[in-house]
Amino acid sequence: MYFSKYNIMSQIKDSENFFIVNLLTKNADILSKGEVEEMKDLTLALSKGEGIGTDVYSLSFGEGRGEVFETELLTEAIEKGYICDEIEEKKLFRNAYLDFIDSRDTDEIQIFFVTNYACNFACSYCYQDEYSYPNQQLTKDIIDSFFDYIKKEFPNRKKYLTIFGGEPLLDNPSQREMIQHIITRSNDNNLDISFVTNGYTIVEYFDLLKTARIREIQITLDGTENVHNSRRFLKNGQATFNKIVAGIDLCLQNDIPVNLRFVADKENIDNLPELARFAIEKAWTKSPNFKTQIGRNYELHHCQQMTNNLFSRVSLYEKIYEIYLQNSSIIEFHKPAFFISKFLFENNSLPNPLFDSCPACKTEWAFDYTGKIYSCTATVGKSDESLGTFYPEISRKDEIISQWQSRDITEIKECKSCSVALACGGGCASVAKNINGQLNSPDCRPVKELLEMGMSFYFEKVENV
Ligand code: SF4
Ligand code: SF4
Repeated sequence: MYFSKYNIMSQIKDSENFFIVNLLTKNADILSKGEVEEMKDLTLALSKGEGIGTDVYSLSFGEGRGEVFETELLTEAIEKGYICDEIEEKKLFRNAYLDFIDSRDTDEIQIFFVTNYACNFACSYCYQDEYSYPNQQLTKDIIDSFFDYIKKEFPNRKKYLTIFGGEPLLDNPSQREMIQHIITRSNDNNLDISFVTNGYTIVEYFDLLKTARIREIQITLDGTENVHNSRRFLKNGQATFNKIVAGIDLCLQNDIPVNLRFVADKENIDNLPELARFAIEKAWTKSPNFKTQIGRNYELHHCQQMTNNLFSRVSLYEKIYEIYLQNSSIIEFHKPAFFISKFLFENNSLPNPLFDSCPACKTEWAFDYTGKIYSCTATVGKSDESLGTFYPEISRKDEIISQWQSRDITEIKECKSCSVALACGGGCASVAKNINGQLNSPDCRPVKELLEMGMSFYFEKVENV
């Protein structure tokens, strides 16, 4: 018997209490300081190899060996798998892993298609500004080849498209013609489409969008009018806020799902409560078709001029924690995940263990208008990261693709012994490769730190969420 290596135990932020979470057995508890001390004593005794009888749930340790130490905590800890038999735990891990692989093989695939890398915006923080765009135009031929490829490559798989850029909804006749053709071909193939757009031309494109099976439109709004306009403006410097807001209104009035993305850094984070109140006043938050996400502005591909404005994952969530404690009503706009804390709070149960957090080349692929195939949105457009072509001819770098496909926490040395592995899933393969020079390397997530905040926020601080 031993203290499970998948236990995540730590002190809840701003509290005397602790939490323990085990994603393999899907149990979680809040523990008092005394219970944690007792748990530590048990763990110490176990690590010294002192005997434990599984059938009576008792442990003999200490000076007078043979003396039986039996507590309710020990009984519960064994029932919940916090203390367990290592061999049994290995079996449980293997079965859960096989279930994970099975279910991923039938999961829906998200297929990104980049219609162009050009954009009508010149956002102050855009990473794509470093790309030099291939001097090539999207054509109906390329679109047809794309649809032929995905039909052949992913037959009988649930899938949907996400149209991505640059900015895909550029308001010019040739782009409209291409978007119209994509929608027609998607409808013919019974595929849902999502769009990732800056939202500036939703109104102009609305007649076309209405003809598609829209899964959602992801639109970025970085704050209320002045803050947003200071960051996300047209190439000529013109403001964009009011047109985007009109586009969001139009979508929601017509039951088209909107996923509002707020890209956060130190420059705009304090505006989050004001943006939330704006959305609440507009009654966007009342719509079942409205959801939100907070993205972190970070150095993806090149140095930012103002690196000091960027948050780390932990510092972003520390700030969000602080903001939400002072403005709890904005929970109506966005409920921060704090890893699995929100899930646990809303479902009163834990999610399945995460053996792999990177869907690239498994349930996510990206294609672009130059005919190239990529792993996902992190690599799309970086031609040295291309994994093949679908136009003018089909080619595949199978060896590299299989490296992407085999990456998970069972393949990464550091993850194998990591206590938060089943919550982290090994992070982003592209970030790991950029930092460590190889795919099968970790991109560590601050699971414990975020759970410390999340457990505090959802289970001790916020009432009537
Ligand atoms: S490489 Fe990173 S961005 Fe790409 S799918 Fe994996 S986690 Fe997502
Ligand atoms: S990436 Fe880091 S934190 Fe995540 S499972 Fe691997 S070692 Fe653990």
